[in-house]
Amino acid sequence: MRLQGTMQINNQGHLEIGGCDVVGLADTFGTPLMIIDEDLLRENCRRYYKAFTQDDGDGVLYASKAFLSTAVARIIHKEGIGLDVVSGGELTIALAAGFPPEKIFFHGNNKSANELRFALSCGVGRIVIDNHYELELLEQISAAEGYRPSVLLRLAPGVDAHSHAYICTGQIDSKFGFNIFGGGALNAVKRALESPHLDLKGLHCHIGSQIFDLGVFRCAALMMMDFLQEVRDHTGWTAPELDLGGGLGVYYTSGDTPPIIEEYAKTIKDAVLQKCREHNFPRPRLFVEPGRSIISPPGTTVYTLGSSKEIPGVRKYVAVDGGMTDNPRPALYQAEYEGIIANKAAAKPVEGVAITGRCCESGDMLIWDLAVPRIEPGDLLAISCTGAYNYSMSSNYNALARPAVVLVKDGKVDIIVKRETWGDLSRLHCIPEHLF
Ligand SMILES: *Cc1c(COP(=O)(O)O)cnc(C)c1O
Repeated sequence: MRLQGTMQINNQGHLEIGGCDVVGLADTFGTPLMIIDEDLLRENCRRYYKAFTQDDGDGVLYASKAFLSTAVARIIHKEGIGLDVVSGGELTIALAAGFPPEKIFFHGNNKSANELRFALSCGVGRIVIDNHYELELLEQISAAEGYRPSVLLRLAPGVDAHSHAYICTGQIDSKFGFNIFGGGALNAVKRALESPHLDLKGLHCHIGSQIFDLGVFRCAALMMMDFLQEVRDHTGWTAPELDLGGGLGVYYTSGDTPPIIEEYAKTIKDAVLQKCREHNFPRPRLFVEPGRSIISPPGTTVYTLGSSKEIPGVRKYVAVDGGMTDNPRPALYQAEYEGIIANKAAAKPVEGVAITGRCCESGDMLIWDLAVPRIEPGDLLAISCTGAYNYSMSSNYNALARPAVVLVKDGKVDIIVKRETWGDLSRLHCIPEHLF
């Protein structure tokens, strides 16, 4: 496993994060346990802030769907970064953290009328309108209740981030946003500009996630700038803001070679400036919305090894005390991870094993082939880069309780999300009277 951030192997041969011995953390807090390296989290925030905000005044919004807790929201805010939320629930957590609503952008492809009312009443910075239905709904509510929200329109620029030879033209099949091709986006812009109840600030796109190819980001930025120019030609409106979404990839395993934050920023800004010169267009204020690249590397999940099953000539399965409930990514999209035996971190590997979860699903795998030293039940497995889309995608399948989350820094540890208890699991259940 590649050591990231403050990770190191201490003189007892144990993995250490944020100056805390992971074996000690597991003893104190139990497993599965998610550990967040505060220094690395802050460093990622600072690099984004420096690359976008410090000199150019562009905005960075952390995509809270990657992982959101009240403590993490406070760190994000203290580092000068805004927040992107996609539901009334995420907005509620952000407000509970004391996050300033004007620094929150509200996304989502099917916000309810209630969520829109809630967002209006707390004064979020931008509402990002995804489709015509929402445009009409938001306008109606704003008119009826006397608001004039600042809005962005989400567009589908037709950049396919996941095909190998990405395409810069042509329509993509996406459930999100107004398509540029076919005129849907231009009509939506005209419609929003006409409305006295909406204050259109700019346009937005988000082309995908875990992207390594900077050409994809460049392509999207160029296309969006061309579209801003097309909008100005047709309407006379010069969009002051352009939000290019998130999507920068991270290192999970040895095949992954993500670009660094600074290169990503330069690519985007160069593309925008190139088009500004070409079209004689004033540089819009840019926004980016990184989620994974801020929170994934700082997160590590620690499990306890339990049972194992060796199938001679096939493989050896070793089970941990969590699985797809706390990390559904391998089951969902064959995601790969690296791991290390945290209490034998300096020991030489002697065999390859398959790490499986404890859920009643054959697809409940975490790592198909992990090189490990001689292991026994009770050993601790740390899997790195689990900060994003793990806890936030977790479930209670098999009525497993969600892990605790701790924040570590300089040898100190704080719990930021308590472990769910078995008692919590029936707290929303009701028994009707006739069943007594
Ligand atoms: C998911 C999402 C992001 C964050 O994506 P990452 O790949 O985690 O950086 C940003 N913006 C929007 C609109 C998203 O849906």
